[in-house]
Amino acid sequence: MLKFLILLFLTSLVMAQPQGYLNSYHSDPIVSSSQSGSAEHSELVPNQPAADQSSKAKEEEAKAKELAQQVSSLCQEVSNRLASVDYSLCADLGYDRVLGYSVQSRPIIAKHYPAHDPEAIRVLFIGGIHGDELTSVSATFLWMNTLNEHHSGAFDWWFVPVSNPDGLLRQNEQGRWTSTRGNINDVDLNRNFTPSQNRYQEPRYRQAQQARNPRYFPGDEPLSEPESLVIDRMILSYQPDIIFSVHAPHGIIDFDGPPMPFAPTAGFGSLGHRALGTFPGSLGDFAWNRMGVPVVTIELASAGQMPSDLEIRRMWRDMVRYLFNLQQSQMLPKR
Ligand SMILES: [Zn+2]
Repeated sequence: MLKFLILLFLTSLVMAQPQGYLNSYHSDPIVSSSQSGSAEHSELVPNQPAADQSSKAKEEEAKAKELAQQVSSLCQEVSNRLASVDYSLCADLGYDRVLGYSVQSRPIIAKHYPAHDPEAIRVLFIGGIHGDELTSVSATFLWMNTLNEHHSGAFDWWFVPVSNPDGLLRQNEQGRWTSTRGNINDVDLNRNFTPSQNRYQEPRYRQAQQARNPRYFPGDEPLSEPESLVIDRMILSYQPDIIFSVHAPHGIIDFDGPPMPFAPTAGFGSLGHRALGTFPGSLGDFAWNRMGVPVVTIELASAGQMPSDLEIRRMWRDMVRYLFNLQQSQMLPKR
């Protein structure tokens, strides 16, 4: 009997390990996919000496202070750049962590809105992967603000509102804003993910792309840029059920994922559903074609002019309705 129990215990240890691929690919996950916070684990340590606890508290305090400083300096810049985002809208949302840093060492900040139910749909929400699509960042902050007030715990959300800070906050020598689609290395981050087909990894293809249209330069190799690496690591460690990524100015909802009834065919707000096609190395190509995680692309109608407040609210209502339908249908790909 004892032997059996020991065997059962060992088996459960093995079963509890994350998938081998994820484990070996990224040994330092950004977010635990099991959603069990480290605080829960620390409570399992018996009789922790008081000195340890106070040094741990100090460490936590220092970390929180550093996060606050990084958020503050980023939000100062973001609120200078975006007319519809004032400093407090950006800075007072209560971020959970810095996922990594841009080429110019700006923090890539993220906030978690945890679900009550561990089985709830996990949503990764990304704003501003293209730096010159200003409304995609502003709208993401407004939706975060809505969640800050009304998060019900029905879904688990991680928000990354400014995923390409250097592209957004680019300035020329005279101090004029010169926001770019790409990051500071002029790489289109939405072509820099690992493509589903290996031939698109070849330097020959990537150089040809640059020659054809430098705006869509996929980088010398997949994940050459720290900003796309941050998103890649987030996807692999968090294992979202679905990803929302906000862009502009095509004025549609695009979808990379399984066909009906998963596709958001009803659209969000005034934006209707239309497939734009999937480009090699885009988020849709990597997340859906390679990892099996559906991607909803929200293409706002203008990169510079915000939708009305009413339209922002209608889009949010429709997004949440869409997620409720998905959750009820229980037909999302299993993670
Ligand atoms: Zn875009």
